Parts: sequence; structure tokens; C-alpha cells
Amino acid sequence: MALDGDETVAGGDSQPPVTTAAATTEEKAIARLSPFPNMEHISDNYGDLELEYSSAMLSSLEKYLPPEMLTATREEKAKFMSDILRKYISRDECSKAKWCKNYWQKIKSNYQPLSRELYNFDPELFLLPSFRKAISENTKESFRRIISEPFPGVLVFQMFQPDFIQKLIVEVENIGKWVHETNFPIRRPYHMSKYGVAFVDFGLDIMLQQLMEEFLFPICKVFFPEECGAMFDSHHGYYIENGEDRDPPLGYHLDDSEITLNVCVRKQFEGGEISFIGTRCLRHKRTDVKPEEVFHYCHSPGQAILHRGRHRHGPRANTPSCSRANMILCCRNSLFREMEKYEKDFPEWCNECAHEKKEKESQSLDAKRKGMIRIATGGKA
Ligand SMILES: [Zn+2]
Repeated sequence: MALDGDETVAGGDSQPPVTTAAATTEEKAIARLSPFPNMEHISDNYGDLELEYSSAMLSSLEKYLPPEMLTATREEKAKFMSDILRKYISRDECSKAKWCKNYWQKIKSNYQPLSRELYNFDPELFLLPSFRKAISENTKESFRRIISEPFPGVLVFQMFQPDFIQKLIVEVENIGKWVHETNFPIRRPYHMSKYGVAFVDFGLDIMLQQLMEEFLFPICKVFFPEECGAMFDSHHGYYIENGEDRDPPLGYHLDDSEITLNVCVRKQFEGGEISFIGTRCLRHKRTDVKPEEVFHYCHSPGQAILHRGRHRHGPRANTPSCSRANMILCCRNSLFREMEKYEKDFPEWCNECAHEKKEKESQSLDAKRKGMIRIATGGKA
């Protein structure tokens, strides 16, 4: 947490400040930390107290307490620091973080991973040599060698070793078995899902972060520079199974991501095609599909698809659905989202914004043309 300059105690003034009664009351009401930590001070342990914030957080903050507070009781210090922290972290955020920590702790102490090597990212074990080579060369040409773009903004390639995919399938099956046997109420990756697994809950998010930063970001930087910016700053990875006795496929939707990696890890029977139906900003997400925007793709096992989260997609209508499993990695960039709040038009990637812009330009050209004709004909036209 950064210390706010306005919230610090000014030091070095030997003259006692002249204060009015009102000013004194105000000073007492505002809890302030010292800008300089007291490194000699040994912090208390707050582990046995009922606290809103973690004991570790309070212990590390204690060195910044103003000198007069250092000798206060633990309860007084905890209250003083909690009052300050509340200005930066809401109660909701705090209790959510606390809940997640307990939840993850319970899973970690009860679930035994089957393939521990999956949890530590190992490029040689996980990724195909051709994919690693293209990324290490890090040029548009090297990416083009392994990536095809069957439709603008839809990149298709092979990236994972078959052994990695096989181990992932078995690990997720093992998670499902554990959930079934223990009846542990795990969270599902999205609210409609009853069988999906969120990787973060089982500690697989760390390897996914490395995959995203070191191997997907270089590709996105070339093909989707606006969305990925300087780096993605968060992700949501999950495993989803569709089929008769699994989750039904989601209808047409936008992803909660800037860029989505969708890897087909298993597929049985024909069908199950994905349809892309145009890229849209949030303002235009429900606008009609134009025939030229429609692209159907038949995803085969092992194949990875990389596309914008705002590229609307879903299962191809009127075709048989199949039994399949996919690994999804939603890569997010909060700066891009902030920018989206302030700008209104995205003709670069939203087809509807581009259409509106073209319409406006053509209307203004038309108005200019009519104006010129009027001048040329002396106002008779
Ligand atoms: Zn738009």
C-alpha cells in the first residue's frame, strides 16, 4: 500500500503548533501513519484476534505507526490500522479475499494432485518444439510459420505436447472424482456450469500465468497490440466439458477477456463447430450479424484458437453438438478496459463502430457534395 503524502505526520518542527479547539478535534479524528518505518520496532502478532484484515498485513504495517501508538495495546493498534486500511480496501473486497484464502487452503490441504509436474511450468515438457522455436525467434514471420488465420482475428495453431494434454485431462478427471467423493462444493468457472473446473482453485493458475506472459503475449503483441498493451495483468483459466452428460455449450457470447486462448483437448463424434459472428464493443454487443462476419470453425483435438474476447462466438446453430473438453485461458488487461470507459468509438476492431463511422463519413461527403452543387447552380439545385 502506498502511503499518501497528505496522510503523513510532518516532523522536525520544535515549536508546538498553535491549534484551535476545532482543529484539535479534527486531528484526533484522523488516523495517520508515519512516512518512515521504525525498523527497530518488533511488531506484535495478531493471529489470535478476530480481525477484518490479515494478521500478517497488520504486523507489517505496525512499523509505520506513529510513535505514540507503538506502545498502545494490540487491540488499539489493530483498530487504528484497520481504520486506515478501510480507506483503501473495502469490507467486501476484504471478506471476499479472506473467503478465497480459506477456500483455497481447504482444497490444498485435501486434494492430492496426480501429476505434480503440471503445476510448474516447463516449456519443454508442455510445448511443441516448433511452437517454442517460433516464440524464441519472436518475429511476425516466425509466428506466421506456425499460425494460420482462416478468418481475420481468428488465429489457429498447435502449441501443446500431446503428453501435456493427456496429463491435463487425467488431472481434471481426478479433480472431478475427488469432488464427487468428498462432496466438496467447488466454484464453477461460470454460473451456468456444473462440471467445469477453475484452474486457480487447484493451483494451476501459476503455470498459466507464465504461459500467458512468456508464450502468448509475444503473439498477441503482434496480432492484437491494442488489447494486450504492455502486458496482460490478470487471467482466468478453466476447463470445460460439453456433451450429453456434461454442461450444455454456452450460447453466443463475448468473453470476459481481452484475448482468449481456446484449446480443444478432447473431442468425440462429429459436429460441435464454433461460429464467430462479428467483433463488437460493449455498446454494440447485441447488434445484428452481417453475413460477411459469419465464420464457422471445426475445432480439432490439440488445436489452439486465439481470438479477441469481444469476438462474439458460440456453437454453430442447427448442427449436432458433440462431446468435447476445452481448456480456456481468458487474458485480461485492465488498462484496455479503463480506456473503453472513456472512448466511445472503436472502429479499429468493432465492426459496428466501423460501420457507423463509414456512414457518418458518407453523410458528410454527401452534404458537402450537395453544398457544392448548390453553389455551382446559384442555389437552384
Ligand atoms: Zn462498437
